[in-house]
Formats: sequence, C-alpha cells, structure tokens
Amino acid sequence: MDWYGCATYRLTLGEVVVFLDAYIDRVPGAAGPQPPQRPEDIERADWIVIGHSHFDHLWGAERIAARTGATIIGSHETVRVMEAAGVPLAQLMPVAGGERIELGDGVFVSVYPSLHSCVWSHQGMHAADEVCLGDLFVTHQDRQARFGQLFEFIGSLGEDTKAHLRDSAQGPRGDGHTLVYVFDTPDGTLLYQDTSGHWSGIVANLRPDVAIIAAAGRANIDGEPIQGSLAQFVARQAALLRPKRVILSHHDDWLPGFSIDTDVAPIREELARWLPHCELAEPGYLDGFDIFGGLTKR
Ligand SMILES: [Zn+2]
Repeated sequence: MDWYGCATYRLTLGEVVVFLDAYIDRVPGAAGPQPPQRPEDIERADWIVIGHSHFDHLWGAERIAARTGATIIGSHETVRVMEAAGVPLAQLMPVAGGERIELGDGVFVSVYPSLHSCVWSHQGMHAADEVCLGDLFVTHQDRQARFGQLFEFIGSLGEDTKAHLRDSAQGPRGDGHTLVYVFDTPDGTLLYQDTSGHWSGIVANLRPDVAIIAAAGRANIDGEPIQGSLAQFVARQAALLRPKRVILSHHDDWLPGFSIDTDVAPIREELARWLPHCELAEPGYLDGFDIFGGLTKR
C-alpha cells in the first residue's frame, strides 16, 4: 500500500492495482509525497474506488482513468461528475451500497452506505483530543448555509488556495453520498473510509482484519456530530469493527490553514483504551506498507 497523502492510497493486491480516492494534486506548501506527484503521471491502475465526490477525494480520478483505462467505482454523483469530465461510461460503475464487485485475482470489494463528517460545523480542524459538544439537530438548510461559509473561508486562505479551489471545481452537488468499502483479498480483509462518519448499525457488523479510519474534523455518528473528540471517534469505530490493525486517513496537513498536521498520540491512547490488542500503524508517504504483514488470518 502506498499513501499519496490526504485519504488517497494505492493498493497492489496480487495482479490488481486499486486506487482508493484519487486526490493527488496539492496546494504549494501542503504535506504530501516529495517530490509532489501528479495524477496524470500514474501509469497503472485497474480500479479507482471513490468514497465521496468532494474535490479532495475525486479530483484526479478523471486523469488516472484517462491514462490507465481504470474503471471508477463511486456514487451516482461521482459518476455524473466524471462523465462530465470526459470519462467514458464504460469506465464508470455507479454504486450505492449493497454491491459486491469482483476486481480480479481473487479480490472482491463490498460497498456500504456511510456518512460524511460534520464539516459544516467548523472552520479549521480541532486537535484530536479536543472534546466538541453541541451543534445537535441543526437542519439540513442551516448546515448547507454553514458549509457555504466554510468554502468562503477556505477561499480566503491566499491566492494559491484560491487557484487550487478553482482548478479542482468539478461541480459536485454535495458529497454525493458517502460510501465505505470492504476489500476481500486472499491475504485478508480491509475496510476503507475517507471521511469521519458512520452508521453505527452498519459498521458494527463488519469485521475487517485492517481498517483505514478517517481522522479529520468533527465526526458524524448516525447523522449528528459526535459529542466528544476525534480520537474518541476513531476508537469508538474501531471498537465496533474490531480490526487487528488501524491505519488513519485524511489526518495530514493537506490544505494548510484549513487542515492540521494531526497529533496521533491522543488517538493512539484512546484506541489502546477501547481496543487494547489493536495495532495503530503509521505508514509514511509512498512507503510500500505491507497492510496484512504480520497479522494472523481469521
Ligand atoms: Zn468531503
């Protein structure tokens, strides 16, 4: 597994190459692989699996698909945006949750409905151990208005950021519905999540060996903002999934001024309290991490 920063990963599973999200471009000065990578330079991919249609997940998939011929799996909104960006329909597979897709070489992926973090509830990111309370029962309309203000705030972060927002604007209508994916491979099972939210009744019944859990912003539990910290969200979700290993996503400083370089220590501590036998792995950028290495098979 290679981490491209933010929530973007490349998995090589036997003969099959799968991108998890496709956001590789960065604002100058943002964290990420050095030298900076570009989606148009990716030479090989068979599948691109997209968690939701915001730019920091989807933007770049159109170029990876164009060069590699990969098929994009994502929500109907993701597929609409990619079709508008010129990706042929033959390379687009819309899903909504409930599908099991064969990817080749003994690898399958199952799709589940999920939830986006309550990004409308804050501007900058909170520290992982900061307990956040309130913002309950805010209507959808008020959330939308606050999300609009957030975009104005991000646009005020300087010319580079403004240009980045302009370049990445593919016109998604919201997050397009958030999905999580569970990969079933000959070496183990892997859950992938790209934003901090979940339906607890859904994740409670999944048992991946390894879970990629998103750690950014105010988490969403069953439609309302968590009354607690981000570290508590990660630990709580891990306690429901019971994986042997957790890997974080979205926790680096991918958009300075909005994101932060998240201190992982409180997450590690909280996870140890809820699920003492679970390992928190911290792969670096593009370091070829062995996802299932050292784990005993279930
Ligand atoms: Zn998002």
